Amino acid sequence: GLRGHKGWGPAWRSPEPKKRYDVIVIGGGGHGLATAYYLAKNHGITNVAVLEKGWLGGGNTGRNTTVIRSNYFYPESVALYDLSLRLYEGLSKDLNYNVMFSQRGVTNLCHSEPEMEMAARLVNAMRLNGTDAELLDADQLRKFIPALNIRPDARLPIHGAVLQPRGGTGRHDAVAWGYARAADAAGVDIIQNCEVLDFITEGGRCVGVSTSRGDIRADRIGAAVAGHSSVLAEKAGVGLPITSYALQAFVSEPLKPVLDTVLISPVTGTYVSQSDKGGLVIGGGLDRVPSYGQRGNLPVQETVMAGLTEMLPILSKVKLLRHWAGIVDVTPDSSPILGPSALEGLYFNCGWGTGGFKAIPAGGYLFAHILATGAHHDISRPFGADRFTTGRLIDEGAASGIAH
Ligand code: FAD
Repeated sequence: GLRGHKGWGPAWRSPEPKKRYDVIVIGGGGHGLATAYYLAKNHGITNVAVLEKGWLGGGNTGRNTTVIRSNYFYPESVALYDLSLRLYEGLSKDLNYNVMFSQRGVTNLCHSEPEMEMAARLVNAMRLNGTDAELLDADQLRKFIPALNIRPDARLPIHGAVLQPRGGTGRHDAVAWGYARAADAAGVDIIQNCEVLDFITEGGRCVGVSTSRGDIRADRIGAAVAGHSSVLAEKAGVGLPITSYALQAFVSEPLKPVLDTVLISPVTGTYVSQSDKGGLVIGGGLDRVPSYGQRGNLPVQETVMAGLTEMLPILSKVKLLRHWAGIVDVTPDSSPILGPSALEGLYFNCGWGTGGFKAIPAGGYLFAHILATGAHHDISRPFGADRFTTGRLIDEGAASGIAH
């Protein structure tokens, strides 16, 4: 059956690193690859290297549950995440690569009347900020998701939900590979198995990196290494307000179509969608203790599955196929960090926590702007690390109730 597929060439080159580039991007996840692509596309800067210590998309980009949404409270956040959603809407065409973006809606459940009031506030804020949102009551929800447990005697009765119809899911590998192929075609060097071990500084400025494949210099260096951001920043003598946690996910055996939206219960932390192959893709909250232990564990599995069967009891006999974890980078206000670091010439794109897959197009777009111009884009300016000294936090943990 695969005979017709002979002779396919690699989708990107594997060049030897040059001694010098205009820009080095550290981290070959979605954000690093998107940054390289938009450096080339939007700014004409193609003398760029992406340095990845492992394989492309082997970090959180290849481990996440692919939920894409912009249901945030503050105007700054909606501007950022809705830019991403809009870029996702045109991404398959832009990259000529099917990223399987499926706008099946994201449905956040409410389990009490006070939660319904907060939901109405969120829906109003989202609409005022120019994105789409609908408030559903229990009857509307029953029609929308017939399998949902809306019985009044449920342990966590369901009163309604916030629906963002334009939200949905995408294909994680395709996002990484699509950006990689397009960046490579524009002349970017993508260098895998190349770990950044240290930074080269001259006159108080970062001028390059020492890697497992030798020293490489550049005018500007951008790091997009997610859960390892504070480890890398420490090598440059830079402190970042990042705490790293394992976040786990699960996939079930394939089923016939049973769920055509992304369903989230913020109270239990459990969320689920159904992949095109039929598997249920299931996630939950962070591990309780910060760590770099990139693996699943049974207590979290038990909690997440309890939340799943509470929402959808018809799934209680479904078998799990796989269970894994990634290391996510959490900031004190649950918003990302984009911009210059305390070391001149070194910039960070991090702090996306549990929600940076949906932000890949915007994160790359804005980080490319910063690296190309040395200055913030209007949308990225509020997300500079300086907010932790000025106190202008964007506390989405409190505002839109996102967990991390
Ligand atoms: P990564 O994809 O982790 O890429 C960083 C890369 O940097 C890695 O490949 C790593 O190997 C490399 N690196 C690290 N150190 C070095 C070094 N010293 N030298 C060279 N390379 C280095 N987000 C959503 O929006 N929706 C979701 O549904 C969602 N679900 C998630 C579920 C799970 C289980 C997890 C773990 C995360 C989830 N996220 C989700 C979060 C999302 O995956 C991340 O925020 C996003 O993928 C971050 O992308 P990135 O490119 O910054 O990081």
